[in-house]
Amino acid sequence: MIQIKNLCKSYGAQPDAPHALDDVSIDIADGDVMGIIGMSGAGKSTLVRCINLLERPTSGQILVDGQDVTGLTGAALRAYRRRVAMIFQNFGLLAQKTVLANVCFPYLAATGRVTAQNRERALQLLDLVGMADRADSYPSQLSGGQQQRVAIARALACEPEYILCDEATSALDPASTNTVLKLLRQINRETGVTVIVITHSMGVVEKICKNVVVLEHGRVVERGSVADVFAAP
Ligand code: ADP
Ligand code: ADP
Repeated sequence: MIQIKNLCKSYGAQPDAPHALDDVSIDIADGDVMGIIGMSGAGKSTLVRCINLLERPTSGQILVDGQDVTGLTGAALRAYRRRVAMIFQNFGLLAQKTVLANVCFPYLAATGRVTAQNRERALQLLDLVGMADRADSYPSQLSGGQQQRVAIARALACEPEYILCDEATSALDPASTNTVLKLLRQINRETGVTVIVITHSMGVVEKICKNVVVLEHGRVVERGSVADVFAAP
């Protein structure tokens, strides 16, 4: 599980620099679909960048299965990043590579080569997301929703324990949004992978999440099951 403990992040060196994250504590249980919702400026991007260690928190801890990851560097950092796969708003596929090569890319990055077994697994994952028949296409030949399904297959290539979705459906139309959210929920159910959904959209949280944390000005202002937090007063 991931335990975010008393996380603070301020940009800038002055002691009175404003906190983008201010004493944020969040427990994410294994197998959860956890939503982290907030308006623009609430601290969502900062939280994502702290979890994937693009930013180092100013103070606080991020415990993954009890181990604080905030100080990881080098090989241990790379190994950690394979445990926490990312999906982005703009899909982040490599334009010069085919769909299959994109899904195989994590193997190349991790080991320097792509084995026949890797290719086989990549094709299975493309099948899982309903994109096997487009293995030889290039990203520009696909719709946004199709590109995001390929990105999900790529995220699964390293058998991650966590999938961190950063506004993953914000660039999609409602129908593609539904397809992608259903797929994430299905993968959660079938593989038990923990899904963390960062979004400004209540609709997204209601459709897919089990639990939710509401961020406002860098602080957690509400948390609980989606049914409880969004229940009419
Ligand atoms: P969100 O993703 O919810 O829109 P952000 O994490 O981007 O929120 O921003 C939270 C706060 O931190 C905002 O006040 C923002 O202006 C500030 N902030 C974010 N990134 C930086 C940065 N690199 N330098 C200075 N301030 C930043
Ligand atoms: P989002 O809504 O996706 O967080 P933003 O417009 O808030 O997009 O931020 C876009 C990028 O600019 C992010 O990488 C964020 O960290 C950075 N950023 C946001 N606010 C500031 C700021 N005050 N100073 C410097 N960089 C910032």
